[in-house]
Amino acid sequence: MKLSTNFTFDEMTRTDHRKYLAANREEAQQPPILDKLKRLANELLQPIRNHYNRSVNVSSGYRGTKLNRAVKGSPRSQHCKGEAADFRVTDSDLREVFDWIRDQSGLQYGQLILECYDPETNSGWIHISLPRPQRTNLQDLIATWDAQTEKWNYQPA
Ligand SMILES: [Zn+2]
Repeated sequence: MKLSTNFTFDEMTRTDHRKYLAANREEAQQPPILDKLKRLANELLQPIRNHYNRSVNVSSGYRGTKLNRAVKGSPRSQHCKGEAADFRVTDSDLREVFDWIRDQSGLQYGQLILECYDPETNSGWIHISLPRPQRTNLQDLIATWDAQTEKWNYQPA
């Protein structure tokens, strides 16, 4: 099922944790979540795809509660509502993509987070989410994973 021109339901609900895959897809078909995933694809991911004209690869979109716990996501993560996606753009430096979204795209996001990025290797991914009612929006952050404390560390971008 297509959610927008270039984004499918399957990629927006995928996970490498295979034991959670079926439950994840079943939950994501419920209208409140499915509607959010459609908005996420159409309002945020598709404009990025169109601007770069390169494939945008979503590594994580919707995450049910169990899957979110398995990947050490925040309990209040927007992934659990179908409101957030983690992605990379083919043949593009993540920092450059991050800066374009923040400074030039005009996209109305809730949070934009550059996660686990290393300029040497272009590792990591970008997290983007739909605007949140009654919370700070257009918020941009850099996130690193602290293996010692097993916690995410957030700084202003
Ligand atoms: Zn994320």
